[in-house]
Amino acid sequence: MIIVCKPSAPEEKIDALTAELNKQGYETHVSKGKMSTIIGLIGDVLKVNKESLEAMDIVEMVQRVSEPYKLASNKFRNVPTVIDVCGNKIGGENFAVIAGPCSVESEEQVVDCAKAIKKAGGTFFRGGAFKPRSSPYVFRGLKEKGIELLLLAKKETGLPIVSEIMSVEHLDYFNDIDIIQVGARNMQNFELLSELGQHTKQPILLKRGLANTIEEWLMSAEYIMSGGNPNVILCERGIRTFETATRNTLDISAVPVLAAATHLPIVVDPSHATGKASLIRPLAKASIAAGCDGLMLEVHPAPEKALCDGAQSITPTHFAEIMKDVKTLCDIENKKL
Ligand code: PEP
Ligand code: MN
Repeated sequence: MIIVCKPSAPEEKIDALTAELNKQGYETHVSKGKMSTIIGLIGDVLKVNKESLEAMDIVEMVQRVSEPYKLASNKFRNVPTVIDVCGNKIGGENFAVIAGPCSVESEEQVVDCAKAIKKAGGTFFRGGAFKPRSSPYVFRGLKEKGIELLLLAKKETGLPIVSEIMSVEHLDYFNDIDIIQVGARNMQNFELLSELGQHTKQPILLKRGLANTIEEWLMSAEYIMSGGNPNVILCERGIRTFETATRNTLDISAVPVLAAATHLPIVVDPSHATGKASLIRPLAKASIAAGCDGLMLEVHPAPEKALCDGAQSITPTHFAEIMKDVKTLCDIENKKL
């Protein structure tokens, strides 16, 4: 349920109302917009007397929220969530480009790659240290050594780091990682999501599950947010369909559908969506035109030698060319990059 306060409502009266609702056992989430303040109410709201709340002089209207997700809903918060990592922002009018190799392989590979990404205008560096691989017989990441190399790349370039966590037992390794990624395969690992919500301060980049609906995805975001971490970034990375021409099918319509449902930033990953380097440029452009807040692109200095996802990885030169289009489209969409 949400309580929309009148623009003229004094802060003390809003505070008094939230204190009273807390006393009655409801959880409250206050969102202050430019025009009005919204109090989001969670708990057994069927017991709330809507009419008596509406009769209060500070209340404009009271509305029940039918969607199962609450904190992620833009009814609970009517301003976009902007994630700010060391001044690099995602969300609202800010656009982010997260780029880097699928996996961290060596010092030279990550440092060279991060320098090239920085030079071309990328804003975050990504790399997998703990890799979810479909086969147990292939390279599964350098693990803690990989995290060390990512932090070295950060030291060399200043780019904040995004890396995937697979188990809550590894949380200590992620203390200095700027954005923690939850991969598609863990989107519904509810234990992991609640633990991250309760025990992390860093933003969480939550990838869409291989075969999950948008509502299921938002419910997973809700797990993190209800645990206490409101900073979730959603990442569309393609879903399973009958089509075999691409690795997955990029659900481009998820971008405007999400934009109408949530205040959370939306990033698109055309690399995992297509599995093909030649398709990254057109789909990156389409994603910006659809209204996303950022891109995640796999970049490798030598894709033919990559230990993971070489076919979908673009070279630093290709990345620099794509960045020109990204900048042009961001200007058209009034996004700051
Ligand atoms: C990745 O980003 O390296 C990755 C494994 O992605 P996904 O979880 O989308 O498959
Ligand atoms: Mn990959």
